[in-house]
Amino acid sequence: MSVVGIDVGYQNCYIAVARSGGIETIANEYSDRCTPACVSLTSKNRMIGNAAKSQITTNFKNTVHGFKKFHGRAFDDPFVQAEKPKLPYSLHKLANGNAGIKVRYLDEDKVFTFEQITGMLLTKLKETSESALKKPVVDCVISVPSFFTDAERRSVFDATQIAGLNCLRLINDTTAVALAYGIYKQDLPTPEERPRNVIFVDMGHSSFQVSITAFNKGKLKVLATAFDLYLGGRNFDEALVDYFCEEFKSKYKLNVRENPRALLRLHQECEKLKKLMSANSSDLPMNIECFMNDIDVSGRMNRGQFEDMCAQYLMRVDMPLKAVLEQSKLSRDDIYAVEIVGGATRIPACAILSPAFKVREFSITDVVPFPITLRWKSPTE
Ligand code: ATP
Ligand code: MG
Repeated sequence: MSVVGIDVGYQNCYIAVARSGGIETIANEYSDRCTPACVSLTSKNRMIGNAAKSQITTNFKNTVHGFKKFHGRAFDDPFVQAEKPKLPYSLHKLANGNAGIKVRYLDEDKVFTFEQITGMLLTKLKETSESALKKPVVDCVISVPSFFTDAERRSVFDATQIAGLNCLRLINDTTAVALAYGIYKQDLPTPEERPRNVIFVDMGHSSFQVSITAFNKGKLKVLATAFDLYLGGRNFDEALVDYFCEEFKSKYKLNVRENPRALLRLHQECEKLKKLMSANSSDLPMNIECFMNDIDVSGRMNRGQFEDMCAQYLMRVDMPLKAVLEQSKLSRDDIYAVEIVGGATRIPACAILSPAFKVREFSITDVVPFPITLRWKSPTE
């Protein structure tokens, strides 16, 4: 039986498996190697992944996305309370004090725990793996952020059980990335030689993780990890959303924040615009037809303006990097390379974080599904 490695992201999930002498990321029924972390509950059925993503604006009260960071958190937790007003779906205080969600499903009001929601997502990822591998899949390794607490890890672990998976190990995202890097490298130093130190920079949708790993042939050691829990692609989307909400208010007298569906559409368009700006530095249009009250809206933005607008976030990019250098007591000269991972590092201003480092492109997070003996690092260590 195969063991699969699953990267459950805040926005995107990936499944990896060792086969044909290499590591392969599995494609879903849309031939897409990435499955959106999205679950939509309707009066007739539940949709998960790509199908659920297409329901974000139409079935907004019952389409759950951006839920990874609610795992293992109390309803009264300041993070949960700060997120609550921004969510299109309703959070609910469970009997044990944890946060859950309230939705309309099969024509009934239902409350689900986040373990159940992630359980539904993992069920889908299990099915995707089984149809690609053409055999049952039960054993898995799941990657979680290095800053996840024990309660958060336990909650993800519970979700794997709900999905009928046997989770052999939860590994840190930073370790998974280091494994993916080291596994194919033929030219690593021998165990007697000085190790090759590599910095991994992973900016996803919700958070930013940096680590330094020392590699020798057949061996890796994570020397230091640092993170910014609240810095990711979503901050850049929100900055664009704020800008266009103001612009559309003055230009068209529209109060976008009062209309959840319009706000979700604006979010989607701003994310597209952000991605376009990664490849183009010229002025780009933002056009949305029949946006609100049958009004077509339009605006413009360019990379320079976007970078000025996001200066407060860009300033934070170097901090975890400096922190890992300090923790590991290594100097810049000891670093062989900085490898960038995670969708948001495609924003050019995030990727050129430290020109003094040798920066090379590295693929989006792939998890290596090998249960290897590595100790979890708790955030307090
Ligand atoms: P997390 O690691 O926080 O759990 P995740 O793993 O789901 O999140 P990724 O898939 O690594 O996140 O990255 C998603 C983010 O990357 C989104 O904010 C997305 O908009 C952004 N992104 C993807 N491609 C680009 C691009 N070309 N330019 C700018 N941003 C991009
Ligand atoms: Mg990620």
